[in-house]
Amino acid sequence: MASNDNLQLFSKALTVFCFIVFIYFFIPDSLSTFSNLLKYLIIIATIVILMFYNKVLGEFTIPELPSQNPSISFDISTIKSKNSTKDLYENLTSLVIATGTSINPNCKSAIYIIDPIKQVFTLQEGKAGEFADVISAGNIQIKKYIDQNKKLHQKDHPDIWSELFFGQNWRGSECAIFSPIKLHGNIAGFILTSIDHFTDATDNEMNTFKKMGEFVSFGLENLESLDKHILGEDSKSLILEILFNLDYKSDAQNIFNQFKYLLRTFFQYDRITVSVRKETENRRKHDKGVISIIKLTDGEKDEFVEGTEFPTNGSLHGLPVVNGISIITSDWRNSHPNISRFKSSESESNYKSVIAAPIIIEGECRGSIVLERFEERSFTSSELKDLELIGQVLGSALHWRYEYEKIHNNATHDGLSGLLNHQTFKERFNDEIQRAARFQQKMAVMMFDLDKFKNVNDTLGHQYGDYVIQTTAKIMIDNVRAVDVVARYGGEEFAIILINTTAAMSNMVAQRIVDNIADYEFSMDGVEARLTISGGMSEYPTHTESIRELIEFADKAMYATKKQNGNGITIHQNKLNEDDSIS
Ligand code: GH3
Ligand code: MG
Ligand code: MG
Repeated sequence: MASNDNLQLFSKALTVFCFIVFIYFFIPDSLSTFSNLLKYLIIIATIVILMFYNKVLGEFTIPELPSQNPSISFDISTIKSKNSTKDLYENLTSLVIATGTSINPNCKSAIYIIDPIKQVFTLQEGKAGEFADVISAGNIQIKKYIDQNKKLHQKDHPDIWSELFFGQNWRGSECAIFSPIKLHGNIAGFILTSIDHFTDATDNEMNTFKKMGEFVSFGLENLESLDKHILGEDSKSLILEILFNLDYKSDAQNIFNQFKYLLRTFFQYDRITVSVRKETENRRKHDKGVISIIKLTDGEKDEFVEGTEFPTNGSLHGLPVVNGISIITSDWRNSHPNISRFKSSESESNYKSVIAAPIIIEGECRGSIVLERFEERSFTSSELKDLELIGQVLGSALHWRYEYEKIHNNATHDGLSGLLNHQTFKERFNDEIQRAARFQQKMAVMMFDLDKFKNVNDTLGHQYGDYVIQTTAKIMIDNVRAVDVVARYGGEEFAIILINTTAAMSNMVAQRIVDNIADYEFSMDGVEARLTISGGMSEYPTHTESIRELIEFADKAMYATKKQNGNGITIHQNKLNEDDSIS
């Protein structure tokens, strides 16, 4: 080791130094020239030794990042080197990059993961040529930004910026966000997102990018544990294939159904029942509920179909949830005499052999998978092991899907009203126009704006204003069909697309919204208020086929309503078709 050699040299130099000092003290005064020479030698030697000492000391100081990041033991190459986990890994990273762009089209994201040997973060996913291939893990400035998850402005730190991005023509308005990816609590990498203009990144978006980092962290931890725990190669590839094909954008039932095929391949049974605690469904995980709900059945039919609820306590199917322990028995009535299969009121069934395992979500037992057979032929302990593993993987898949849903919802919906946000509205509008063109359908586009809303804020406070926005959103949702698109277009502006209908036919819906708001007795903390809203409408493709113009026409019509004291609806007047106008 270089530092050990240096240490030896250092001690030798120190010995020589002491020897010179020793001679200096015993030299007779008559030899003053020699004595002076020695004095200077000692001064020079002291300086050299001090410099040397600093160097040796420096080598023995552990660099800051490695000492604070035991995560460097994490090596992504183990996950990426195996075909099975590699696919999942790539699926995960590309999902994240695609989500980033859908949150904000002015954003570009890349994923960096630490290379523990070279001590650099290397680019995993993201456009090479835009993002640097490697970023030094020892760069203290960059490390500060990763840790603090704060915005880096190009104009403030062009030096850091040029380490991260290729290119020269920066305008100064660009900014970047780091979303840390952690493994076992330590930084293993980050998502780097660049945004054209710093005002483009809202707090909500900042929060979402942070969540995306957590999502990748969560995915990596899952992959790592999968890699460690699945033993048989066949089981492994099957489970991984299922996980790979899971659609996290679909609903939870889809995930359960995917597992049905996995269970069919693994086991022979007369009946399978998968259930979860009801509050898991409602996602209040700390709320210790007592009811379970059946999510999936296969095999023999009985009265306990999907959607049936049963008490978690005192039932065979709730037992793995209550005590977290698996069951293996050749005759469950004998081995568990004091409990019923689902409910005490159930009719007799002939099942005898049972294996059951808990579904584990975030380390907590929140459901069960139970396999039953009519015969006494027992399930084997290795079958139970497989079932336990499937219980864990299913739990992890459910959790993963839920996390993804949260990120996606956060990214596409407005936090206050729960309606689609401006950006997503435009994307949906585009999709709907393409669909309407294909099926030659018409659509009505409505813009609404609350009348004199500023007064509410000024006289009753901002919180009251927020309450009014939320309530207005709810009234709108209540008055349209599920297929229609309702969005918060701006502060107190709302946009609605009514699918497959004309403006004239939608006039009733619009008028109902206007009337319901005018009739609504707004009341918060005992303070009551009355408000009205103005609306305008345009029609696709009659007025125009352009999204921009449809919104503009509806907006102008809305202002025409405002001019007539608000509280009404106006349909855009197409000069070619004066008959369309209703005011
Ligand atoms: P008009 O009848 O012409 O529509 O007048 P107005 O007062 O409704 O319109 P204006 O556009 O002048 O004011 C809209 C106000 O909405 C200004 C802004 O402070 C407020 N606002 C925007 N977003 C929010 C929000 O999220 N919460 C609250 N409480 N107020 C908001
Ligand atoms: Mg207004
Ligand atoms: Mg307004």
